[in-house]
Amino acid sequence: MRKKFNSSTILATILVICFLMVGQVTFAAELINKVPVGADLSIELLDVEHGDAILIRKGAKTMMVDTGDPNHRFLVANKLRARGVKTIDILLLTHHHSDHIGGVYTLLNDFKVGKIYENGVENPNSKTSANLIKKLKNDSKNHILVNAGMKIHLDNDIYFQVLSPDQKELFTGKNFLNNNSIVMKMQYKDFSMLFTGDMQAATEDKVLQTYGAATLKSDVLKVAHHGSRTSSIYPFIKAVDGKIATISCGEPEKYNHPNKNVVGRLNHLGYEIITTLEHGDIKIEPNGQEYSVYNSK
Ligand SMILES: [Zn+2]
Repeated sequence: MRKKFNSSTILATILVICFLMVGQVTFAAELINKVPVGADLSIELLDVEHGDAILIRKGAKTMMVDTGDPNHRFLVANKLRARGVKTIDILLLTHHHSDHIGGVYTLLNDFKVGKIYENGVENPNSKTSANLIKKLKNDSKNHILVNAGMKIHLDNDIYFQVLSPDQKELFTGKNFLNNNSIVMKMQYKDFSMLFTGDMQAATEDKVLQTYGAATLKSDVLKVAHHGSRTSSIYPFIKAVDGKIATISCGEPEKYNHPNKNVVGRLNHLGYEIITTLEHGDIKIEPNGQEYSVYNSK
């Protein structure tokens, strides 16, 4: 039997298609509003379940911190397109685990990518990592090996101070990939945010000993390693002393992230915890002093 479509079904279908084509990005609610207007920077932790994919835009400048895992590579690309992104000026990969570099080739294929920043620490179990290291070795113009002490400028008034890894003292041993994650503090006027990749307790301890609380102090903490129990040691998150803790996590049945003890420590220190698992895409919009936080679900 042939199915009949009535006119309202067709109209509804056309409307849905139009909506998808326009790529309207809607955020469901304002979680925290300190600055109603005038924000010119946005930091979006895209919901890619278990993985990191963070889009940072300031005026015409665009940066991605990590790319999500291979299963979400098209989702990440679609989310960028829906936001009008065509060029990624800086693509920074915190480390070579698949939930951070899994979408790298999709982004390189689908977008005009400028400089690629990474830590040079190959994942021996990943073809993507091996191919990427090989490719970047032959591209000295656009490839930058990240080292502690560097400052990465996205625009005149926004930069990232790299705190780890120190290329002369790279971590070895079981968790070397996570512990060599690129850790950096973003500074935009009086607003700051700490990016932590998947560093574990050993790196947190080293960064704390090396830089101290005055440098680590930030408004927002991107919690390390998806809120895993391997990370977020009390003295470190106390030194950061932030107001907001964002956690990119999903698939709770698989990883059990965020860990309840990590959540307990963050709560105890007064952080407001926002997870992609609960809130979807998380957008932070600072104007240099204050900020708003939006969620997509
Ligand atoms: Zn990860």
